[in-house]
Amino acid sequence: MNLKTVVLLIAVIAALLVFSPQSAMAQKKAELKKVTDSVYSYAGVHSGTPGNVFAANAGIIIGQNAVLVVDTLGSAVEAEAFMTDIRKITDKPVRYVVNTHYHLDHALGNSFFADMGVPIISHAKCRDAVIAGGDKILANPAMFGLPPDFWKETRIVAPDMAFEREMIIDLGGLTVKLIYSGIKSHTAGSIMVYVPEQDVIFTGDILFTDFHPYLGEGDLPGWEKNLDFIRDMNVKNIIPGHGPLSTNRDLEDMKTYLNIFDKKAKELSAGEKDIEKLTSAMLKVIPEKSDGDFIVPMNLKARYLISNEKEQVGDN
Ligand SMILES: [Zn+2]
Repeated sequence: MNLKTVVLLIAVIAALLVFSPQSAMAQKKAELKKVTDSVYSYAGVHSGTPGNVFAANAGIIIGQNAVLVVDTLGSAVEAEAFMTDIRKITDKPVRYVVNTHYHLDHALGNSFFADMGVPIISHAKCRDAVIAGGDKILANPAMFGLPPDFWKETRIVAPDMAFEREMIIDLGGLTVKLIYSGIKSHTAGSIMVYVPEQDVIFTGDILFTDFHPYLGEGDLPGWEKNLDFIRDMNVKNIIPGHGPLSTNRDLEDMKTYLNIFDKKAKELSAGEKDIEKLTSAMLKVIPEKSDGDFIVPMNLKARYLISNEKEQVGDN
């Protein structure tokens, strides 16, 4: 299995983790909600919501001169609907797009903004992952329980600009800091978007609140350090990658979840290899979440039943 295949598999698994057809119950369209005077996001949206089926907390930061978009949702069509929502709030020009990480629910709307001529910025490792993944994923919407035309107008577009540790963007009277802690977490290139004057941070998928998090590519010790890093910033308005507006308490809960999941998965997977039985045993002992139960078996397969996975991959 070459690197490209690995990256594609990761992208596929990542997508499955954030969307499941069973969860596609919501009918009301996603709404961009006010967080502070200058910041709006989809925080609190549920899986399956029209316009944001993966329930990703994209958002905008509005300065005097320009708008910065945080994440681009799951397709060009979703990004276009996002732009329509942005225009209901501000007529200022969208001058920057940031990807918090490369997963499809955060970066597959890139082509829509690229076609508007807006530069896209990310961590260097996020950019590498988009390029390595290529466009194979677009041929398989059915794998994600999506309709055949879901990615009809979508192209894979890698970020134009990338950074390693920090980047400062001046939107006119408002400064935005893109921060990589220096330590891997949910992915190798997961960043935060901090707006100090508004006391707001977008954590990307470093924080899932009330959603089971995708752990497949996570560096768990590093992830906990990132959660501490955000906690120590003492930000009032924390926008997680998925779930409602959050506080430092949710960062602590996420750490607890990671610890319990890892401990119990190691214990239980030593004796139980059947994925369904293992999943139901895990759901009894890990903290309850209202969305994303389908992620649990994916995490177990990706991290704790690796020998089975290797055999399956070897067959391909
Ligand atoms: Zn996500």
